[in-house]
Amino acid sequence: TEPKLEGFVPLFLSWESFYTRNLYRRARDCWNRPISSCAGGRIDVMERISPDYGWNFQLTGKKLDVMNFGSYNYLGFAENTGPCADKVEETTRKYGVGVCASRQEMGYMDIHRELDDLTAEYLGVEAAITVPMGFATNSMNMPSLVGKGSLILSDELNHASLILGSRLTGALIRTFKHNDMRDLEKKLRDAVTEGQPRTHRPWKKILIVVEGVYSMEGSIVRLPDVIRLKKKYKAYIYLDEAHSIGAMGPHGKGVVDYFGLDPRDVDIMMGTFTKSFGAAGGYIGGTRRLINHLRANAHSCIYSTAMSPPVVQQIISSMSTIMGKDGTQEGMKRIRQLAWNARYFRKRLHERGYILYGNKDSPVVPLLLYMPSKVAMFSRETLRRGMATVVVGFPATPLIETRARFCLSAAHTKEMLDEAIQIIDDVGDLLRLRYSSLPAPDF
Ligand code: PMP
Repeated sequence: TEPKLEGFVPLFLSWESFYTRNLYRRARDCWNRPISSCAGGRIDVMERISPDYGWNFQLTGKKLDVMNFGSYNYLGFAENTGPCADKVEETTRKYGVGVCASRQEMGYMDIHRELDDLTAEYLGVEAAITVPMGFATNSMNMPSLVGKGSLILSDELNHASLILGSRLTGALIRTFKHNDMRDLEKKLRDAVTEGQPRTHRPWKKILIVVEGVYSMEGSIVRLPDVIRLKKKYKAYIYLDEAHSIGAMGPHGKGVVDYFGLDPRDVDIMMGTFTKSFGAAGGYIGGTRRLINHLRANAHSCIYSTAMSPPVVQQIISSMSTIMGKDGTQEGMKRIRQLAWNARYFRKRLHERGYILYGNKDSPVVPLLLYMPSKVAMFSRETLRRGMATVVVGFPATPLIETRARFCLSAAHTKEMLDEAIQIIDDVGDLLRLRYSSLPAPDF
């Protein structure tokens, strides 16, 4: 036998996977269910069988036609019908699917330019740049904005792409408590005054990194306060609107629109096209100087192939609809429908005694299951009754804050919401999820 090699660790072994493997031992099928339709208001979920509920599964060929409360299809643009789909088809025939080069080389087409300009107009900023992947928009652009000698103050619940992007900058990263402005101000005050005379501070740049809507919590950033603090302490704001662009505000222009603020007060406006626009990719909007700097320096622009033309077209069409440029009220109708759906759904669940996280206007509604052991049952029982949901637990949430997360969409009708609430109620009773129906604690 070979001698034991001190310090050697097998490639796939980690403490965390050991831990979570046991936590969700019989629940893996809740996350690996193939669907065979577009990610619309209703979807076809394929029936699967697996001896260990895990990755090794077989498809039986049967499909379940169910309501979809798991996709971030906020404005219903993921549907593959209607004017967006026709235009996408036309564009694919004209430009093909792959552009086969980066923007700096042969990958820059007239429709990319059109999308950049339209995005800037939509956001109300001087210029914008678009990137083929939302995750890369954060992780590959942040390093060209701040570096060593700078400080990043990051909300503790920021998305993985923001965490990776922040780490790649080489700046010092400090987190502040989720949406806690007192903690943010304390960290800013410490950063500015730390052992320094009043005329000097130890950091070249201070970047405050926040999200518009936090998709695990359904909370909304306290943007007016963040802007006040950034001005007071001469910092910059990086705002990720992945879950708020299109989905929040009277004109669907995100949290800036929701709070009625000036977009120019946010230095770096980032967002993705993967949710409200039913497409793929991300953007950064800001001053022309900022965008020119990113065009010349960001890895996402130089070393990555430009966005696929049908994707570009899907964004142009859905964004034009949201802005009313198609000459109809369709965009505004969807924005209002989503806002109504989000409030109605949350209110009804709240009235029935469920514990929910987040803001009343958030299109994401997390319902607390608390115990990891309820994950599989909740997911399977709602599916069986005709509703696909997403369940989230450790390590994405604290261990005992396991939750189901409902994503509302303009594609949901009131009848669908009522049916979904009834299903949640039935499963909720089965799992004793209503706090008002829990027995009194037995001390
Ligand atoms: N930022 C946030 C806040 C996100 O939630 C996500 C993914 N859902 C991303 C960035 C990454 O975007 P994409 O999925 O478009 O790559």
